[in-house]
Amino acid sequence: MPEVFDVIIIGAGLSGLTTTKYLKDANISTLTLEASDVPGGRLRSIENKDNSFEFGGTYIGHHYHRFQNLAKELNLTTIDVTPLISFFKKQDLVINKQLIHQDDWENHKENTLDKDLKSILPWNLHRIILEKYNPYNSPEACLTEGTNDQSMRDWLQSLGFDSQQIKYIYGMNLSYGTDADSISSLQLMHRASFSKRQKSESKVIGFTLLEGMNELANRYINHFNLNILFKNRVNKIVKEKGLFSVSCENGNEFSAERLVLTCAPSTLKNITFDDYSKEQRIQFASELQSQPMFQIHFKHKKNFWEQDGFSPAIFSNEYLGMCYPVRNKVDPEEIIGFTAWVMGKKALDLIKLSQKDACSVIINNLQEIRPSIKNAIELTHLNAWSHEKDFLGGWTYFKPNQFLMWHKLLQSEKSNIFFSGEHTSISSRGIEGAIESGEKTARELLNSIH
Ligand SMILES: Cc1cc2nc3c(=O)[nH]c(=O)nc-3n(C[C@H](O)[C@H](O)[C@H](O)COP(=O)(O)OP(=O)(O)OC[C@H]3O[C@@H](n4cnc5c(N)ncnc54)[C@H](O)[C@@H]3O)c2cc1C
Repeated sequence: MPEVFDVIIIGAGLSGLTTTKYLKDANISTLTLEASDVPGGRLRSIENKDNSFEFGGTYIGHHYHRFQNLAKELNLTTIDVTPLISFFKKQDLVINKQLIHQDDWENHKENTLDKDLKSILPWNLHRIILEKYNPYNSPEACLTEGTNDQSMRDWLQSLGFDSQQIKYIYGMNLSYGTDADSISSLQLMHRASFSKRQKSESKVIGFTLLEGMNELANRYINHFNLNILFKNRVNKIVKEKGLFSVSCENGNEFSAERLVLTCAPSTLKNITFDDYSKEQRIQFASELQSQPMFQIHFKHKKNFWEQDGFSPAIFSNEYLGMCYPVRNKVDPEEIIGFTAWVMGKKALDLIKLSQKDACSVIINNLQEIRPSIKNAIELTHLNAWSHEKDFLGGWTYFKPNQFLMWHKLLQSEKSNIFFSGEHTSISSRGIEGAIESGEKTARELLNSIH
């Protein structure tokens, strides 16, 4: 008979760690099962000899108070990324396979936007439009009854934009969904309201961790002495005589009275649930999508951008996605490597290929568009989020009508299965959202016991 815990938490990302800590503080016996051999989930830093490369969550908003308090408690060093962000804005464009300087966008024949938006670059257009026209002034307001969960295309059309304009406003290397039809405008409004809240009165825009983001997860476990079992990928959950029996791929079995699911909703497809615990929320969640995403990282052997006169950073709707330099966190003038982020539709194509072939497609595309890169780079890492079983993409995106429906289900349906993770947070997004969700889940779970 396996040992029985009060609560089993599935996943040791930030939300799972936070839930575990708060339950432990309340003397609840917990076991956290993590598929990987390291904690942190979508916090992923790779050390190289010059600096740490961040492949997952990196940017800490000015008002990520939960994260910043935690970093302080764990004796980690937050550094100001404002100088890094000013470099980020220097991206040139690829339009119809042609490299163009960002200053030439304003008068480019593809650019049919009106005067006030003409000089805004495509990667920033939807952000500026959301900032201006978002009808909801807080993330919470987006989740109230009666809000309009339409597609981004419908919303943009209602503002008067035509399809040529939408192609550039919401069509290039997208971070959410694969096109303007496939994404809930409400999710983007929620995110925009959260970003607005992050705006600071000071000149400091945001932070990152000097020690690397993964260090937060490592120190978290040691500092709070949490009970985590690594290399235990859950693949089956059955409810028997009031207890959940949780099986892992490696044959381990554990039991608990309550469960917390923190893994990305799309990955719930990897777990078999018995009929009893197959709730509407579980079914709905497993049909949600994770953002198609593929990253490659390379080092430059020579300064190829000096040869062609374009910015080291380029933004495209090609297989190279957004390719930008990774800079030394302490001395941002220094370029320590490059990351190509392929998102949305093009990433969806790459998922159908092996990781090796997908990588070749990106490199060939880079060389075709930017010939100066030939023989000038060396591939160092591959981060195929969409190919990874435990993530199946970067983060959850919601199709029209799904965003509101998901939050309604979370509020209305109650059982001994609790959901946590960034995709469940109400007031925050990203890293801060993951911590918020962990706190909320622990609170709800404790309320259900007492
Ligand atoms: C490339 C990238 C860049 C990002 N950049 C930023 C940023 O700059 N700023 C920001 O605020 N946010 C950013 N984010 C988002 C942020 O990283 C996440 O919102 C946050 O880390 C999510 O934490 P979580 O605990 O909700 O989920 P996760 O970190 O995904 O944790 C879930 C855990 O569950 C485990 N798991 C999955 N299936 C199973 C199973 N069957 N059994 C056991 N364990 C399982 C996984 O291995 C994982 O460890 C980024 C994310 C990505 C991918």
